Amino acid sequence: MTKLARAQSRFLGSVVERIITGTKGRCETVSGLRMCRCGKLKLYAKNGTQLGDVFVTDANATTPSDGLVQHERHHRDAQWRRYGLAFGPMYLAMHVVDVWLKRLPYNRYELAAERASDYGGGYPRYDEN
Ligand SMILES: [Zn+2]
Repeated sequence: MTKLARAQSRFLGSVVERIITGTKGRCETVSGLRMCRCGKLKLYAKNGTQLGDVFVTDANATTPSDGLVQHERHHRDAQWRRYGLAFGPMYLAMHVVDVWLKRLPYNRYELAAERASDYGGGYPRYDEN
């Protein structure tokens, strides 16, 4: 399961990277995190999105802070590489439950990444009761 999930995360990241470099985007490795700045296609939400092994962000994004790198590495290591491609629908489903239905400031996967990075992703501080 974990081996398959890791392969799926790597595969998704490589597909995303090819699409981005094929549409005039640029990719580099920052503190162990593969990061792609989009060209003509916007493949991220908010300020950036971890898609499998690759962090996708804006063409003009500056070098990410250590906290943001830690946040995205949590999405990669504890979420994408653990659940593989199933993580995409899982994330969306919990976004509906946590944000839309429960009206929390962000979903449980973001909360986990924020806790793992001491709120390095830049979300407002929030703790469940
Ligand atoms: Zn996040």
